[in-house]
Amino acid sequence: MLGQMMETPLLVTSVLERARRFFPRSEIVTRSAAGELSRLSYADFYKRTARLAGALARLGVVRGDRVATLCWNHHRHLEAYFGIPSMGAVLHTLNLRLHPSELSFIARSAEDKVVIVDRSLLPLYQKFAADVPSIRHVIVVPDDGATPPDLLDYETLLAAERDDFAWPPLDERSAAGICFTSGTTGNPKGVVYSHRSTVLHTMVSCMTDTLALSEGDVVMPVVPMFHANAWGLPYSAVAVGARVVMPGPRLDAESLTTLMATEKVTLAAGVPTIWLGILALLDAAPKRFDLSSIRSMVIGGSAAPPSMIEGFQSRHKLHVTHAWGMTETSPLGSLARIKRSLDAADPAAQLGLRSTQGYAVTLIDQRHVADDGRVLPWDGSTMGELEVRGPFVASGYLGGAGADRFTQDGWFKTGDVVTIDAEGYIRITDRSKDVIKSGGEWISSVALENALMSHPAVLEAAVFAGRHPKWDERPLAAIVLKPGHSATKAELTAHLESRVAKFWLPDDYLFMAQIPRTSTGKFLKSKLRDDHGDMLMGR
Ligand code: AMP
Repeated sequence: MLGQMMETPLLVTSVLERARRFFPRSEIVTRSAAGELSRLSYADFYKRTARLAGALARLGVVRGDRVATLCWNHHRHLEAYFGIPSMGAVLHTLNLRLHPSELSFIARSAEDKVVIVDRSLLPLYQKFAADVPSIRHVIVVPDDGATPPDLLDYETLLAAERDDFAWPPLDERSAAGICFTSGTTGNPKGVVYSHRSTVLHTMVSCMTDTLALSEGDVVMPVVPMFHANAWGLPYSAVAVGARVVMPGPRLDAESLTTLMATEKVTLAAGVPTIWLGILALLDAAPKRFDLSSIRSMVIGGSAAPPSMIEGFQSRHKLHVTHAWGMTETSPLGSLARIKRSLDAADPAAQLGLRSTQGYAVTLIDQRHVADDGRVLPWDGSTMGELEVRGPFVASGYLGGAGADRFTQDGWFKTGDVVTIDAEGYIRITDRSKDVIKSGGEWISSVALENALMSHPAVLEAAVFAGRHPKWDERPLAAIVLKPGHSATKAELTAHLESRVAKFWLPDDYLFMAQIPRTSTGKFLKSKLRDDHGDMLMGR
């Protein structure tokens, strides 16, 4: 017997229409490169989104065409987020931190037809545009000054259109967006989101036990809109009618903290580096900013060190929500929420749980497996590769790349090495390509980094494998000290001795001004290995 319920398709268009209907007075606040704030009501946002769709249709964009964006976080980018999928085209967010050669590879692979680019990023665009034969039009967003006269101007195009674009009916399985992985090895791979996956991810991320988004929230995605859809926040914030605060290109701690305080942000999200800077700023002047409106700071993309989670909580009464995800998982996969049955645990145990990557969000399944594919026990100590599945997890990559990441029985291999405890809490010990194997034993670089970052003088620590003549690999630690602080190698070793097994102690430390990073702010350990991986060989 079949159910007898309407099979209304799950479309981004419905999220947009609901926002128009119920929340016309909600606002999108954008801060420009010059630091000025502009405010746009949802009513006007809707009209502009319709006009953008009209302009794209006039330029010849049809269903399934890829329209790329090369933009910072601002309201026009949000218009593209909704207008492009709702007209049946596919939003392809380009990562402005990539090298032009990578961007040309990505734009060629996606066969982008139109590119919407911030004027401030035109020099970058011009470095790769000629290598992408599919591009027919470039539309310039005048973010930091007027559009050059020989190029299409975003505002001029919108001014010529009507407010009432007729959104087409769409199959919920049709592509809504493409985002390329920020892979540190091999070519980036395209993940193709559908309308259905986007809407389901939006609903799950709004749930009370996920991010608990509501109309009363003020949401600031610090995470760039080119990084895994800004973790879905542009869709989920608009879905509930929240006020959205777009920080533009100024991502330094001072600018962000000021914006959070003045706009009374309730939920902000970004990678640990951003929050480390903010924590240091608050520590230096604890009374300077009033951040009492904030109820959750969502941290993900890399492991949030326990010392940071604890520092925000105990010194500034700010609550960190630690989340795990990937471009391939839309991206929210799991979240470190403490279950009621565990609430009574002591503060140290609570911090321990909040520093894990949490357990899978609704609709996502998780397991971890051994090298031979054997499913492993949830005992909190057996390490294996995390696999996930669910309706907003990729089932393949654009063009059939990376087929080995998908198992015969329908799971996605994340490449993250984890333990899972009896309650389902995942703890990432490493990326599989970053694991350190010393004399046949695994050493967790993430655990070592967390221990090092709990030292008062250490701002950041990245632990990586150095080749070793006897042990095969030994840990090396790259360290960035806090300004005005000092620590010797012996002091760091003494700090670690009480926290980790003796054979985990790094063989050496490298003090640096900055740890090399990927385009999405993760430690680039392959570069550390390339530059310093042989330093133990001659010893
Ligand atoms: P991306 O697709 O660029 O978002 O990268 C996904 C990868 O980032 C994951 O496979 C993890 O290795 C890492 N990652 C994301 N969130 C976390 C987290 N909370 N803790 C540790 N690693 C994370």
